[in-house]
Amino acid sequence: MARVLLITGASRGIGAVTAALAAARGYHVGVNYRANREAAEAVVAGIREGGGTAVAIAGDVAVEADVLRMFADCEQALGPLTDLVNNAGVVDMKARVDEMSAARLQRMFAVNVFGTILCAREAVKRMSTRHGGMGGVIVNVSSVASRIGSPGEYVDYAAAKGAVDVFTIGLAKEVATEGIRVNAVRPGIVRTEIHASGGQPDRLERIAPLVPMLRPGEPDEIAGAILWLLSPEASYTSGALLDVSGGR
Ligand code: NAP
Repeated sequence: MARVLLITGASRGIGAVTAALAAARGYHVGVNYRANREAAEAVVAGIREGGGTAVAIAGDVAVEADVLRMFADCEQALGPLTDLVNNAGVVDMKARVDEMSAARLQRMFAVNVFGTILCAREAVKRMSTRHGGMGGVIVNVSSVASRIGSPGEYVDYAAAKGAVDVFTIGLAKEVATEGIRVNAVRPGIVRTEIHASGGQPDRLERIAPLVPMLRPGEPDEIAGAILWLLSPEASYTSGALLDVSGGR
């Protein structure tokens, strides 16, 4: 039986590269997207051309009804879920806390925190031996921002990722005897479109000198860490926060 992996926010960036790598390693992959269906379908087409199995799954992780539908759609198309990568995430414009609107804070936590927890809840319901499941693996994509704090840029994002870290530690303990491992990857600065989405297309060049390796990471370098945490090689690893950040 192939493993069935749902990756949230897999229409581009780290999620898309993780989907391709997972499919190449034999996972059947649910490629979730929020808005850009064409991009998600392109990820799926690339996987199928390589002989892999994937489907595009629509849904906003911040909307509970969407999350319920995403998991049902994934299961219907690919079979029982064995793995989840909570990758969907957003930043916002560079701002100090005294400039942040309540609407911004709502969105920041709705996507990055509530979305992660809602998806993990649905995964646990399906994977936990307590609910008759076969076990499984959850990987949350956090950020080194939770350690650094991102002052003057987006402390709200850093705080949301801090919540993801603590959720990872707690959930790992909660389901440790139910066949489920839960870990987080904390990327440093990685070459994706997320920086332009936050109004800082030059962020890679600006931050690179602060990284001990003096370069940004590439999405496949994060995907490799995620795939390791999903794999049986990480069978004794749970509750870990794995920094993949060029030493930063
Ligand atoms: P990205 O290139 O901006 O891609 C984000 C993905 O998430 C897109 O596929 C987007 O789909 C999806 N998404 C956004 N909001 C969503 C929602 N509400 N529901 C479902 N999907 C949603 O970002 P990335 O750089 O690959 O980041 C992936 C993860 O890594 C995020 O959790 C991010 O915080 C984390 N991270 C990134 C970096 C970095 O430097 N790149 C560093 C540390 C941590 P749509 O386009 O359809 O909205």
